[in-house]
Amino acid sequence: MTLPALLDWSQLSASDRLKALQRPAQENVDALNASVRQIIADVRARGDTALLEYTQRFDGVDLAALQVSDAEFTSAAAALNEDQLAALHRAIANVSRFHVAQLADPIRIETSPGVVCERHYRPIDSVGLYVPAGVAPLPSAAIMLAVPARIAGCPTRIVCTPPRKDGTADPAVLVAARLCGVERIFKVGGAQAIAAMAYGTHTIPKVDKVFGPGNAWVTAAKLLAANDADGAALDLPAGPSEVLVIADESARAEFVAADLLAQAEHSIDAQAILVTTSKTLAQETLLQLEQQMQRLDRESTLRKSIAHARIFVVDSLDVAFDVSNSYAPEHLIVQTRNARAWLPKIRNAGSVFLGTWTPETMGDYCSGTNHVLPTYGFARAYSGLSMTDFMKRITVQELSDEGLRDLGPTAVTIAQLEGLDAHANAVQVRLRHLEAAARP
Ligand code: NAD
Repeated sequence: MTLPALLDWSQLSASDRLKALQRPAQENVDALNASVRQIIADVRARGDTALLEYTQRFDGVDLAALQVSDAEFTSAAAALNEDQLAALHRAIANVSRFHVAQLADPIRIETSPGVVCERHYRPIDSVGLYVPAGVAPLPSAAIMLAVPARIAGCPTRIVCTPPRKDGTADPAVLVAARLCGVERIFKVGGAQAIAAMAYGTHTIPKVDKVFGPGNAWVTAAKLLAANDADGAALDLPAGPSEVLVIADESARAEFVAADLLAQAEHSIDAQAILVTTSKTLAQETLLQLEQQMQRLDRESTLRKSIAHARIFVVDSLDVAFDVSNSYAPEHLIVQTRNARAWLPKIRNAGSVFLGTWTPETMGDYCSGTNHVLPTYGFARAYSGLSMTDFMKRITVQELSDEGLRDLGPTAVTIAQLEGLDAHANAVQVRLRHLEAAARP
């Protein structure tokens, strides 16, 4: 069996370090983009027919209809027990609380006398929410997408999620989406689902912005559609999941290994990295990985993704945080003494889990933070989903006659600097008018 490589960071050359931090999903990007481009073109040309064919090919099911019917919703609701429903309700409540708290008031200030500037929020008109269900159906993703979309007040909210082999959608995904106010759900996954939402088909409405995590095909399709003026905007590149754990000698190997495995079970291209100051902890973690993996359901996925996990032994926690900042993980778990004290050192990470009692699982499901987070190192410049992603910020300005008299000449001077005399003229005609009106 292949366990993660244990590497001494100080002994690696600069290029070895870069190579060791390479994401598995970033291999063969050109081939991936070519096949996704083909899928998008096909969905645009043949609409629902192409969707049904791809669903047959990639999901192995012949669907009679793409849209989830009322009868399917009813049987989904009956399939969940009380504890499962209560857990979904509790998660939705916490996610709602954290996202409502993010709502910002409009801004209104007078920047100079008679010149008022404002910023107002408006929901995006139509949003398409992708809920993954390839390796495992993710009702939690339905919550993370549909809760902020509802709080923002986006009038059109649709969900796409891959069907199961029997042609139904996962009941927990359906129930979670409904509890969060989504009425229209379509059974289609992968790049074809993103193409359908970005361009529209007979059955699936075109949306303004596509949201949601997904595998490499989903993420590539989102990026391609967002680069096309006829397509749809994307939230962020939220591809195959990643975790980086920073641990010192005070950490428990059992917990560290459990966190690495929780990440690795997502998919074979998930990435789990441990950066530790303790060689003993590194070795104990390897033993724990082997022991725990044998007890877990998805052993075969775990073995494949743990094979490209990495364990780096570093000289100090300062170096550990430098490694993490350069990798920019989607999830960063800090299991050190006084973990909170290291927070100022963290510059690049999607979401941070501080201390022994904060497994990533809590943020994945129910602490309240959003689990749709930037992968592939995009955490250097992108943030995880938040309320602002579902809204537009519209700025407004209003000048009184006094405001224009006072500030207009500044604009005229800058317009002349740029050689744009029509810009200057739009101010000057008004200033002349005001001067004439002021004459006795
Ligand atoms: P998925 O729903 O993203 O993908 C399944 C779909 O992929 C299928 O319906 C199929 O249409 C398509 N597909 C499968 N094989 C294909 C092929 N050979 N060619 C073209 N299309 C193909 O589900 P998944 O695969 O389980 O992936 C979910 C991903 O989401 C995981 O990688 C997980 O790590 C990631 N994730 C990321 C975040 C985040 O915030 N970054 C959060 C949750 C999950």
